[in-house]
Amino acid sequence: MFGLSQKTVVKAAIATGLSVVVSVAIVLLLVPFLGGHPDGPGFWMSVLCPLLIAAPASAYQFHQKEQISIARDQILRMHGELHQAHRELTSLHAALQEKASTDSLTGGLNRETVFARLAEACCRPPRPCALLIGDADHFKNINDTFGHQTGDRALRAIAAAIAASIRPQDFWGRIGGEEFIIFLDGADSDTALSIADGIRRAVLDIALMVADRRVPVSMSFGIACADDVFSPETLFGIADRRLYEAKNAGRNRVVIGRVDAA
Ligand code: GH3
Ligand code: MG
Ligand code: MG
Repeated sequence: MFGLSQKTVVKAAIATGLSVVVSVAIVLLLVPFLGGHPDGPGFWMSVLCPLLIAAPASAYQFHQKEQISIARDQILRMHGELHQAHRELTSLHAALQEKASTDSLTGGLNRETVFARLAEACCRPPRPCALLIGDADHFKNINDTFGHQTGDRALRAIAAAIAASIRPQDFWGRIGGEEFIIFLDGADSDTALSIADGIRRAVLDIALMVADRRVPVSMSFGIACADDVFSPETLFGIADRRLYEAKNAGRNRVVIGRVDAA
């Protein structure tokens, strides 16, 4: 009725009825007390006035109250939906960020991210660290002999060997085709040598078979160690030169250098 809900109509009817009762009671009690007679037009006015005033006023008030309650429920629901959308966006953002920083083939960090992490690492409080550059040996031969897909499988197996050999405080990534970087935080030269040689042996143990032929996977490493502060460029340059020496010395080996001895 008039766009009012049944609940509002009932509440307004009760309020109007009570108003009429109170109004009539006042007339019946107060008028004789003042010396008059509560009958005739005066009595009917005590019925009519609350009907004309209380009915629309209470209907309006209950209707408004109901509208406010509906609006509040809607706001609460929208708030819940917004909260949920925000949570979804946050997790989507995290997933996108991870995807943007990950090398899709190996699951390690990609080149940009690994160099950004290296630049961050040089700003940490001074302590020993080591940078390893690992390069798969004769990888072009693997692709040429067994096919590019087998080459990709070998790269994934190398990545798994690296990931299984490093410590929680370290990070690694692929910086080029068959080249990897591993940063060992807080590692002295003995630790760096031991971890690099562990990865080298794990790579050598990769049992990748193609039609009963074992794919010969091996890797050479150059290491640069720093005692405290370092610049990423210096560390990278030393590790790169040591890698070059490892290749020239016959591959499948680790050559170590120090920042202060460069
Ligand atoms: P070296 O021992 O001197 O490092 O020899 P190499 O053959 O490994 O080095 P070279 O630079 O001549 O060849 C690298 C090869 O790595 C060539 C390229 O086809 C291959 N490669 C680069 N990226 C990928 C990749 O994502 N997947 C595969 N399967 N091969 C790749
Ligand atoms: Mg290579
Ligand atoms: Mg290379």
